[in-house]
Amino acid sequence: MFTCEWGGVMWAGKGAVWAGGGGVLAVVALPLLLLAGIGGSTSSMGLCPPGSPEKFAEFAHAAGADTAAPSGLHIDLPLAEADAAPPVPPELIAPGPWSYPVPAPATVTARFGQSGPHWSTRHTGTDFAAPAGTAVFAASDGVVLAVVHESAGRPFGTFVTLLHADNTVTVYAHLQEAAVARGQELAVGQQIGTVGSTGNSTGPHLHFEVRPQIKGRHLPVDPEPFLATATLSAAGTGPTSAQASGCLWPAGAPSGPVDTAALPELARAMTPTIVRLLEDCPELPLEWVHAQVMAESSWNPGAWTSDSNGGAAGLYQLSHEAWAAAEGDAGTWTRGSRPPASHPVWEPAVHLRVAITHACGNLREMTAHLLRHPTKPISPLEAMAVCHVAGCSRVMGSVSGIPVPGEAMCGRECVATVHAYLANISRHLHTITGTAPDTP
Ligand SMILES: [Zn+2]
Repeated sequence: MFTCEWGGVMWAGKGAVWAGGGGVLAVVALPLLLLAGIGGSTSSMGLCPPGSPEKFAEFAHAAGADTAAPSGLHIDLPLAEADAAPPVPPELIAPGPWSYPVPAPATVTARFGQSGPHWSTRHTGTDFAAPAGTAVFAASDGVVLAVVHESAGRPFGTFVTLLHADNTVTVYAHLQEAAVARGQELAVGQQIGTVGSTGNSTGPHLHFEVRPQIKGRHLPVDPEPFLATATLSAAGTGPTSAQASGCLWPAGAPSGPVDTAALPELARAMTPTIVRLLEDCPELPLEWVHAQVMAESSWNPGAWTSDSNGGAAGLYQLSHEAWAAAEGDAGTWTRGSRPPASHPVWEPAVHLRVAITHACGNLREMTAHLLRHPTKPISPLEAMAVCHVAGCSRVMGSVSGIPVPGEAMCGRECVATVHAYLANISRHLHTITGTAPDTP
Protein backbone atom coordinates (compact mmCIF):
# COMPACT_ATOMS: atom_id res chain seq x y z
CA MET A 1 0.00 0.00 0.00
CA PHE A 2 1.29 3.40 -0.85
CA THR A 3 -0.05 6.19 1.29
CA CYS A 4 1.88 9.03 -0.15
CA GLU A 5 4.33 8.72 2.68
CA TRP A 6 7.33 10.19 0.99
CA GLY A 7 9.51 9.33 3.92
CA GLY A 8 9.25 5.65 3.22
CA VAL A 9 10.04 5.89 -0.42
CA MET A 10 12.26 8.84 -0.89
CA TRP A 11 14.28 8.89 2.20
CA ALA A 12 14.74 5.21 2.81
CA GLY A 13 17.92 3.77 4.16
CA LYS A 14 18.84 6.31 6.77
CA GLY A 15 19.69 4.92 10.16
CA ALA A 16 18.88 7.14 13.08
CA VAL A 17 21.64 8.03 15.48
CA TRP A 18 20.39 7.19 18.89
CA ALA A 19 23.09 8.85 20.85
CA GLY A 20 25.99 11.08 20.17
CA GLY A 21 25.98 14.07 22.45
CA GLY A 22 27.70 11.99 25.06
CA GLY A 23 29.12 14.79 27.14
CA VAL A 24 25.94 16.83 27.25
CA LEU A 25 24.40 16.75 30.68
CA ALA A 26 23.28 20.20 31.76
CA VAL A 27 19.65 21.11 31.36
CA VAL A 28 19.34 24.45 29.67
CA ALA A 29 16.18 26.32 28.85
CA LEU A 30 15.06 26.11 25.24
CA PRO A 31 16.34 29.07 23.28
CA LEU A 32 13.91 31.29 21.43
CA LEU A 33 15.49 29.95 18.30
CA LEU A 34 13.46 26.81 18.70
CA LEU A 35 10.23 28.65 18.41
CA ALA A 36 11.27 30.72 15.44
CA GLY A 37 11.15 27.80 13.03
CA ILE A 38 8.44 27.62 10.46
CA GLY A 39 6.53 30.85 10.84
CA GLY A 40 4.20 31.56 7.98
CA SER A 41 4.13 28.11 6.49
CA THR A 42 1.65 27.55 3.77
CA SER A 43 -1.56 25.78 4.65
CA SER A 44 -2.45 22.41 3.29
CA MET A 45 0.47 20.79 1.56
CA GLY A 46 -0.85 18.41 -1.01
CA LEU A 47 2.42 16.61 -1.12
CA CYS A 48 1.19 13.53 -2.89
CA PRO A 49 3.32 13.56 -5.96
CA PRO A 50 2.02 12.71 -9.40
CA GLY A 51 3.30 9.45 -10.82
CA SER A 52 2.98 5.90 -9.64
CA PRO A 53 4.56 4.52 -6.50
CA GLU A 54 5.92 1.65 -8.56
CA LYS A 55 7.90 4.19 -10.50
CA PHE A 56 9.47 5.50 -7.32
CA ALA A 57 10.33 2.05 -6.08
CA GLU A 58 11.82 1.19 -9.43
CA PHE A 59 13.81 4.36 -9.39
CA ALA A 60 15.11 3.83 -5.92
CA HIS A 61 16.13 0.30 -6.77
CA ALA A 62 17.79 1.12 -10.00
CA ALA A 63 19.57 4.11 -8.54
CA GLY A 64 20.78 2.19 -5.55
CA ALA A 65 21.90 -0.82 -7.46
CA ASP A 66 24.48 0.74 -9.63
CA THR A 67 26.72 2.75 -7.36
CA ALA A 68 29.53 1.20 -5.40
CA ALA A 69 30.15 2.31 -1.84
CA PRO A 70 33.20 4.51 -1.68
CA SER A 71 36.21 3.52 0.32
CA GLY A 72 39.51 5.05 1.30
CA LEU A 73 40.41 8.70 1.56
CA HIS A 74 38.31 10.94 -0.64
CA ILE A 75 38.70 14.51 0.31
CA ASP A 76 36.55 15.91 -2.45
CA LEU A 77 34.32 12.95 -2.60
CA PRO A 78 30.96 14.48 -3.42
CA LEU A 79 32.17 15.52 -6.83
CA ALA A 80 34.31 12.45 -7.27
CA GLU A 81 31.18 10.38 -6.66
CA ALA A 82 29.25 12.53 -9.05
CA ASP A 83 31.92 11.88 -11.62
CA ALA A 84 31.71 8.17 -10.98
CA ALA A 85 27.91 8.12 -11.14
CA PRO A 86 26.66 6.16 -14.11
CA PRO A 87 24.78 7.89 -16.91
CA VAL A 88 21.11 8.34 -16.06
CA PRO A 89 19.01 5.68 -17.80
CA PRO A 90 16.33 7.43 -19.86
CA GLU A 91 13.47 5.51 -18.21
CA LEU A 92 14.34 7.14 -14.89
CA ILE A 93 13.76 10.60 -16.23
CA ALA A 94 9.98 10.16 -16.24
CA PRO A 95 7.58 11.39 -15.03
CA GLY A 96 7.89 14.61 -16.93
CA PRO A 97 7.28 16.85 -18.52
CA TRP A 98 10.47 18.83 -18.21
CA SER A 99 11.05 22.34 -19.37
CA TYR A 100 14.06 24.56 -19.74
CA PRO A 101 14.43 26.68 -16.59
CA VAL A 102 14.96 29.88 -18.57
CA PRO A 103 13.13 31.29 -21.60
CA ALA A 104 14.56 31.18 -25.08
CA PRO A 105 16.93 32.45 -26.22
CA ALA A 106 19.30 31.42 -23.49
CA THR A 107 22.85 30.41 -24.05
CA VAL A 108 24.58 27.54 -22.32
CA THR A 109 27.86 28.96 -21.08
CA ALA A 110 29.07 25.93 -19.15
CA ARG A 111 28.12 22.28 -19.12
CA PHE A 112 28.09 19.59 -16.50
CA GLY A 113 31.44 18.03 -15.72
CA GLN A 114 33.37 20.75 -17.46
CA SER A 115 36.55 21.88 -15.82
CA GLY A 116 37.61 25.46 -16.05
CA PRO A 117 39.80 28.17 -14.63
CA HIS A 118 37.04 29.33 -12.27
CA TRP A 119 36.41 25.99 -10.63
CA SER A 120 38.40 24.19 -8.02
CA THR A 121 36.45 21.07 -8.99
CA ARG A 122 34.37 20.00 -11.95
CA HIS A 123 31.18 21.87 -12.76
CA THR A 124 28.10 20.31 -11.13
CA GLY A 125 25.38 21.79 -13.32
CA THR A 126 24.50 23.64 -16.51
CA ASP A 127 24.96 27.41 -16.72
CA PHE A 128 22.50 29.47 -18.77
CA ALA A 129 23.52 33.06 -19.38
CA ALA A 130 20.58 35.48 -19.46
CA PRO A 131 20.06 39.14 -18.57
CA ALA A 132 19.56 39.88 -14.88
CA GLY A 133 15.86 39.83 -14.05
CA THR A 134 14.99 37.16 -16.65
CA ALA A 135 12.36 34.73 -15.35
CA VAL A 136 13.53 31.38 -13.97
CA PHE A 137 11.04 28.51 -14.27
CA ALA A 138 10.46 25.23 -12.47
CA ALA A 139 11.95 22.59 -14.74
CA SER A 140 9.32 20.03 -13.73
CA ASP A 141 6.33 19.72 -11.40
CA GLY A 142 7.49 19.80 -7.80
CA VAL A 143 7.40 21.30 -4.35
CA VAL A 144 9.79 23.91 -2.97
CA LEU A 145 12.24 22.27 -0.57
CA ALA A 146 14.33 25.30 0.32
CA VAL A 147 14.62 29.00 -0.42
CA VAL A 148 17.99 30.29 0.71
CA HIS A 149 18.82 33.96 0.53
CA GLU A 150 22.19 35.37 -0.36
CA SER A 151 24.71 35.24 2.42
CA ALA A 152 28.41 36.00 2.20
CA GLY A 153 30.54 32.96 1.58
CA ARG A 154 27.76 30.87 0.04
CA PRO A 155 28.76 29.87 -3.47
CA PHE A 156 25.17 29.52 -4.70
CA GLY A 157 24.06 33.00 -3.62
CA THR A 158 20.27 33.14 -3.48
CA PHE A 159 18.95 29.77 -4.55
CA VAL A 160 15.89 27.55 -4.60
CA THR A 161 15.72 23.76 -4.49
CA LEU A 162 12.71 21.82 -5.74
CA LEU A 163 11.75 18.25 -5.04
CA HIS A 164 10.12 16.35 -7.89
CA ALA A 165 7.83 13.37 -8.07
CA ASP A 166 10.54 11.01 -9.16
CA ASN A 167 12.63 11.86 -6.11
CA THR A 168 14.90 14.19 -8.00
CA VAL A 169 16.01 17.55 -6.63
CA THR A 170 16.67 20.51 -8.92
CA VAL A 171 18.73 23.53 -7.88
CA TYR A 172 18.39 27.09 -9.25
CA ALA A 173 21.35 29.19 -8.13
CA HIS A 174 22.67 32.77 -8.24
CA LEU A 175 19.11 34.17 -8.37
CA GLN A 176 18.49 37.88 -8.14
CA GLU A 177 15.24 37.15 -6.35
CA ALA A 178 13.30 34.09 -5.28
CA ALA A 179 9.54 34.39 -5.71
CA VAL A 180 8.42 31.19 -4.00
CA ALA A 181 8.09 29.90 -0.45
CA ARG A 182 9.09 26.62 1.13
CA GLY A 183 6.36 24.04 0.73
CA GLN A 184 4.80 25.71 -2.28
CA GLU A 185 3.72 23.38 -5.03
CA LEU A 186 4.82 24.35 -8.49
CA ALA A 187 3.81 23.24 -11.94
CA VAL A 188 6.37 22.88 -14.67
CA GLY A 189 7.10 26.26 -16.21
CA GLN A 190 5.89 28.25 -13.22
CA GLN A 191 8.18 31.13 -12.28
CA ILE A 192 10.35 30.64 -9.20
CA GLY A 193 12.48 33.77 -9.37
CA THR A 194 14.76 35.83 -11.55
CA VAL A 195 18.24 35.42 -12.99
CA GLY A 196 20.92 37.20 -11.00
CA SER A 197 24.59 37.00 -10.15
CA THR A 198 24.53 36.39 -6.40
CA GLY A 199 27.16 34.16 -4.81
CA ASN A 200 30.22 33.05 -6.70
CA SER A 201 29.26 34.19 -10.14
CA THR A 202 31.02 36.17 -12.84
CA GLY A 203 27.86 37.64 -14.37
CA PRO A 204 24.09 37.14 -14.62
CA HIS A 205 23.30 33.50 -15.25
CA LEU A 206 21.35 30.57 -13.90
CA HIS A 207 23.33 27.67 -12.49
CA PHE A 208 20.93 24.74 -12.84
CA GLU A 209 21.46 21.33 -11.28
CA VAL A 210 19.59 18.03 -11.42
CA ARG A 211 20.20 15.66 -8.52
CA PRO A 212 18.47 12.27 -8.59
CA GLN A 213 18.72 10.27 -5.42
CA ILE A 214 21.50 7.75 -5.82
CA LYS A 215 21.97 5.43 -2.87
CA GLY A 216 20.44 7.87 -0.42
CA ARG A 217 22.30 10.90 -1.73
CA HIS A 218 21.16 13.54 -4.13
CA LEU A 219 24.12 13.60 -6.45
CA PRO A 220 24.38 16.00 -9.36
CA VAL A 221 24.12 14.47 -12.83
CA ASP A 222 24.15 16.03 -16.26
CA PRO A 223 20.92 18.09 -16.59
CA GLU A 224 20.93 18.00 -20.36
CA PRO A 225 19.37 14.52 -20.83
CA PHE A 226 16.49 15.72 -18.62
CA LEU A 227 16.06 18.79 -20.76
CA ALA A 228 16.25 16.81 -23.96
CA THR A 229 12.56 16.00 -23.48
CA ALA A 230 11.71 19.63 -22.75
CA THR A 231 8.54 21.02 -24.18
CA LEU A 232 10.00 24.51 -24.13
CA SER A 233 13.31 24.88 -25.91
CA ALA A 234 15.98 27.39 -25.19
CA ALA A 235 17.44 28.69 -28.41
CA GLY A 236 21.12 29.20 -28.78
CA THR A 237 22.23 26.28 -26.71
CA GLY A 238 25.43 24.87 -28.02
CA PRO A 239 28.41 27.13 -27.67
CA THR A 240 30.31 26.43 -24.52
CA SER A 241 33.27 28.69 -25.07
CA ALA A 242 31.72 31.88 -23.74
CA GLN A 243 32.67 32.18 -20.10
CA ALA A 244 31.62 35.76 -19.51
CA SER A 245 28.81 34.63 -17.23
CA GLY A 246 29.30 31.52 -15.20
CA CYS A 247 30.03 30.06 -11.84
CA LEU A 248 33.00 30.97 -9.81
CA TRP A 249 33.68 28.28 -7.26
CA PRO A 250 35.70 29.02 -4.20
CA ALA A 251 39.24 27.70 -4.14
CA GLY A 252 39.88 28.62 -0.53
CA ALA A 253 38.20 29.38 2.74
CA PRO A 254 35.08 31.49 2.62
CA SER A 255 34.94 34.98 4.02
CA GLY A 256 31.40 34.32 5.09
CA PRO A 257 29.44 34.75 8.26
CA VAL A 258 31.73 32.36 10.07
CA ASP A 259 34.24 34.20 12.22
CA THR A 260 37.26 31.96 11.62
CA ALA A 261 39.17 33.57 14.49
CA ALA A 262 36.59 32.03 16.83
CA LEU A 263 37.34 28.52 15.57
CA PRO A 264 39.82 25.92 16.81
CA GLU A 265 42.80 25.33 14.55
CA LEU A 266 41.47 22.07 13.10
CA ALA A 267 38.14 23.75 12.33
CA ARG A 268 39.94 26.47 10.41
CA ALA A 269 42.03 23.91 8.55
CA MET A 270 38.99 21.82 7.59
CA THR A 271 36.78 24.71 6.52
CA PRO A 272 37.69 24.55 2.80
CA THR A 273 36.91 20.82 2.84
CA ILE A 274 33.55 21.48 4.51
CA VAL A 275 32.74 24.19 1.97
CA ARG A 276 33.42 21.70 -0.83
CA LEU A 277 31.31 19.03 0.86
CA LEU A 278 28.44 21.48 1.25
CA GLU A 279 28.31 21.99 -2.50
CA ASP A 280 26.38 18.71 -2.33
CA CYS A 281 24.06 20.06 0.34
CA PRO A 282 23.64 23.77 -0.21
CA GLU A 283 20.78 24.01 2.29
CA LEU A 284 23.07 23.04 5.19
CA PRO A 285 24.84 26.23 6.36
CA LEU A 286 28.56 26.14 7.07
CA GLU A 287 28.05 27.64 10.52
CA TRP A 288 25.73 24.77 11.47
CA VAL A 289 28.39 22.22 10.64
CA HIS A 290 30.87 24.12 12.78
CA ALA A 291 28.40 24.51 15.64
CA GLN A 292 27.42 20.86 15.58
CA VAL A 293 31.01 19.63 15.61
CA MET A 294 31.76 22.04 18.48
CA ALA A 295 28.79 20.67 20.41
CA GLU A 296 29.76 17.06 19.70
CA SER A 297 33.52 16.91 20.17
CA SER A 298 34.94 20.44 20.44
CA TRP A 299 36.86 19.48 17.28
CA ASN A 300 38.67 16.58 18.90
CA PRO A 301 38.96 14.06 16.03
CA GLY A 302 39.77 11.25 18.48
CA ALA A 303 36.72 11.77 20.69
CA TRP A 304 35.08 8.51 21.76
CA THR A 305 31.98 8.06 23.90
CA SER A 306 30.88 4.68 25.23
CA ASP A 307 27.16 4.38 25.51
CA SER A 308 24.41 1.82 25.47
CA ASN A 309 23.91 2.39 21.75
CA GLY A 310 27.28 1.04 20.70
CA GLY A 311 29.40 4.13 21.12
CA ALA A 312 30.04 7.30 19.17
CA ALA A 313 33.28 8.26 17.46
CA GLY A 314 35.10 11.27 16.09
CA LEU A 315 34.33 14.87 15.30
CA TYR A 316 30.59 14.42 14.78
CA GLN A 317 30.29 11.59 17.31
CA LEU A 318 28.86 9.28 14.69
CA SER A 319 27.37 6.01 15.78
CA HIS A 320 28.45 2.65 14.41
CA GLU A 321 25.04 2.38 12.78
CA ALA A 322 25.29 5.74 11.03
CA TRP A 323 28.78 4.99 9.78
CA ALA A 324 27.79 1.57 8.48
CA ALA A 325 24.67 2.99 6.81
CA ALA A 326 26.65 5.72 5.07
CA GLU A 327 29.61 3.61 4.02
CA GLY A 328 27.95 0.26 3.32
CA ASP A 329 29.79 -1.41 6.19
CA ALA A 330 31.67 -0.35 9.29
CA GLY A 331 35.00 -1.88 8.29
CA THR A 332 37.18 -2.72 11.26
CA TRP A 333 34.86 -0.94 13.71
CA THR A 334 33.12 -3.51 15.91
CA ARG A 335 29.91 -2.24 17.42
CA GLY A 336 30.35 -1.29 21.06
CA SER A 337 34.12 -0.97 21.05
CA ARG A 338 36.43 1.86 20.16
CA PRO A 339 37.42 1.62 16.47
CA PRO A 340 41.11 0.83 15.85
CA ALA A 341 43.47 3.75 15.25
CA SER A 342 43.65 2.94 11.53
CA HIS A 343 39.87 3.29 11.06
CA PRO A 344 38.85 6.16 8.74
CA VAL A 345 36.34 7.43 11.32
CA TRP A 346 39.31 9.20 12.96
CA GLU A 347 40.45 10.88 9.74
CA PRO A 348 38.90 14.38 9.79
CA ALA A 349 38.29 14.74 6.04
CA VAL A 350 36.74 11.28 5.71
CA HIS A 351 34.75 11.70 8.90
CA LEU A 352 33.34 15.04 7.77
CA ARG A 353 32.41 13.64 4.38
CA VAL A 354 30.45 10.77 5.95
CA ALA A 355 28.95 12.96 8.69
CA ILE A 356 27.85 15.76 6.39
CA THR A 357 26.26 13.28 3.99
CA HIS A 358 24.48 11.71 6.96
CA ALA A 359 23.39 15.08 8.37
CA CYS A 360 22.20 16.23 4.96
CA GLY A 361 20.11 13.08 4.58
CA ASN A 362 18.51 13.80 7.94
CA LEU A 363 17.99 17.45 7.01
CA ARG A 364 16.19 16.50 3.81
CA GLU A 365 14.13 13.83 5.51
CA MET A 366 13.11 16.31 8.21
CA THR A 367 12.38 19.04 5.67
CA ALA A 368 9.97 16.69 3.93
CA HIS A 369 8.45 15.65 7.26
CA LEU A 370 7.94 19.24 8.44
CA LEU A 371 6.34 20.16 5.13
CA ARG A 372 3.76 17.47 5.87
CA HIS A 373 3.39 18.70 9.45
CA PRO A 374 3.51 22.49 9.19
CA THR A 375 2.23 23.00 12.75
CA LYS A 376 5.44 21.69 14.30
CA PRO A 377 7.32 24.78 15.50
CA ILE A 378 10.80 23.51 14.77
CA SER A 379 13.07 24.38 11.87
CA PRO A 380 14.48 21.64 9.61
CA LEU A 381 17.99 22.39 10.90
CA GLU A 382 16.90 21.98 14.52
CA ALA A 383 15.08 18.81 13.54
CA MET A 384 18.28 17.57 11.89
CA ALA A 385 20.08 18.18 15.18
CA VAL A 386 17.43 16.25 17.12
CA CYS A 387 17.86 13.40 14.63
CA HIS A 388 21.57 13.38 15.36
CA VAL A 389 21.34 13.36 19.12
CA ALA A 390 18.22 11.26 19.62
CA GLY A 391 16.95 9.86 16.33
CA CYS A 392 14.53 11.27 13.75
CA SER A 393 11.68 9.27 15.30
CA ARG A 394 11.79 11.77 18.18
CA VAL A 395 10.93 14.57 15.75
CA MET A 396 8.36 12.54 13.83
CA GLY A 397 6.71 11.07 16.91
CA SER A 398 6.28 14.29 18.89
CA VAL A 399 3.71 17.04 18.60
CA SER A 400 6.21 19.91 18.48
CA GLY A 401 9.14 18.09 16.93
CA ILE A 402 10.90 18.18 20.29
CA PRO A 403 9.59 15.49 22.62
CA VAL A 404 8.30 16.11 26.11
CA PRO A 405 9.01 13.37 28.68
CA GLY A 406 7.20 10.20 27.71
CA GLU A 407 6.56 11.28 24.16
CA ALA A 408 8.16 9.47 21.18
CA MET A 409 9.72 7.01 23.61
CA CYS A 410 11.88 9.78 25.03
CA GLY A 411 12.19 9.85 28.82
CA ARG A 412 13.34 12.71 31.06
CA GLU A 413 17.01 12.13 30.44
CA CYS A 414 16.47 11.89 26.70
CA VAL A 415 14.45 15.13 26.70
CA ALA A 416 17.11 16.90 28.78
CA THR A 417 19.82 15.75 26.37
CA VAL A 418 17.88 17.01 23.37
CA HIS A 419 17.28 20.42 24.98
CA ALA A 420 20.85 20.80 26.14
CA TYR A 421 22.18 19.79 22.74
CA LEU A 422 20.03 22.35 20.91
CA ALA A 423 20.99 25.04 23.40
CA ASN A 424 24.66 24.16 22.90
CA ILE A 425 24.35 24.42 19.15
CA SER A 426 22.58 27.75 19.51
CA ARG A 427 25.37 29.02 21.77
CA HIS A 428 28.05 27.88 19.33
CA LEU A 429 26.20 29.43 16.40
CA HIS A 430 26.34 32.78 18.17
CA THR A 431 30.02 32.44 19.00
CA ILE A 432 30.96 31.27 15.51
CA THR A 433 29.03 33.96 13.70
CA GLY A 434 29.90 36.69 16.18
CA THR A 435 26.26 37.47 16.94
CA ALA A 436 24.70 38.12 20.31
CA PRO A 437 22.55 35.35 21.75
CA ASP A 438 18.85 35.90 22.32
CA THR A 439 18.48 36.76 25.95
CA PRO A 440 15.35 35.55 27.67
ZN1 LIG B 1 27.36 26.85 -12.76
